[in-house]
Amino acid sequence: MRAAVITKYNADWELKTLPDPRPSPGQVVIKIAASGMCGTDLHVHHGIFGLPLPIVAGHEPVGEIVEVGAGVTSLKAGDRVGVSWAQKGCGRCRACQEQRIMYCQEQQSWMHLGGGNSELMLAWAEGCTLVPKGVSSEAAAPVFCAGFTVFSGLRHAEPRPGDRVAVLGIGGLGHLAVQFARALGLEVVAVTGSASKKSEALELGAQEAIVAGDHAGQALAKAGGADVILSTSNSAAHLSQIIEGLRPEGRLVSMGVVDGPLQIDPMSMMLRQTRVIGSTQGARRDLVEALDLVAADKVKPRLEIYPIEKVNEVRDRLIAGRVRYRAVLQH
Ligand SMILES: [Zn+2]
Ligand SMILES: [Zn+2]
Repeated sequence: MRAAVITKYNADWELKTLPDPRPSPGQVVIKIAASGMCGTDLHVHHGIFGLPLPIVAGHEPVGEIVEVGAGVTSLKAGDRVGVSWAQKGCGRCRACQEQRIMYCQEQQSWMHLGGGNSELMLAWAEGCTLVPKGVSSEAAAPVFCAGFTVFSGLRHAEPRPGDRVAVLGIGGLGHLAVQFARALGLEVVAVTGSASKKSEALELGAQEAIVAGDHAGQALAKAGGADVILSTSNSAAHLSQIIEGLRPEGRLVSMGVVDGPLQIDPMSMMLRQTRVIGSTQGARRDLVEALDLVAADKVKPRLEIYPIEKVNEVRDRLIAGRVRYRAVLQH
């Protein structure tokens, strides 16, 4: 099988032919149709996770099962599935007993089995989720990380009807966050660093879009503030600022890989009874619900689609911040 292999950090990924994987008991082999490229793949590329090389990245994979390992009864060849980051836990720790495998210290992911930038991908059956009819593999792919992440973030914020949701950062995650919040009937204000994205944010469904300027929090407060802020920002400075845009009892949900500690005024938090919530992919039901909203055409991932041969070009385009809004590789 052909795969885009990371053999060296900060260097081009190599298109290589690797042996076809065979499933162990409990595993499946998926013929990948589409594989989204996520900002986290850039951290992998830059060696931030310190993963042993060589490795095949890609944690937004969708394709068709071509082989099932012994003991797999829930899936069969021909099923169209995507694979979550957290595929399987140890089964025995407290988190696994509670069926919250995302907290298992021995959780298995693409890092252990190889990712979706590959013709064939190995996955644990329990890490797979069926892709509903009516959604293309390309549109489903980004839901497995970007969509799942922001939908869980929204659920963690426990929005009430009538709440105003601000989305900080309109990129791969943010463009979906705007649409999911709208699909749940919430009022959405987009906060973006670039004036050029203002009209795009409105097209995505935000009722209002503001440019962050020197201080995103003050800009948001001036525009009426928000009950929920969904932040996809990686910047501790921006995150520290945006807290000022929270309305009383507001919730700031941080979903980015943030580059340092936040500066928070606890007195202001106490008096205004605000909350800061760390959030990543939560319960699997969030993923299923997010896929349903895409299948129902209520949320439309905006894609740039490329053949796998262009993987290095696509990665550099993502580094340069030029992707609108998610790049998906086809095999
Ligand atoms: Zn991701
Ligand atoms: Zn466990």
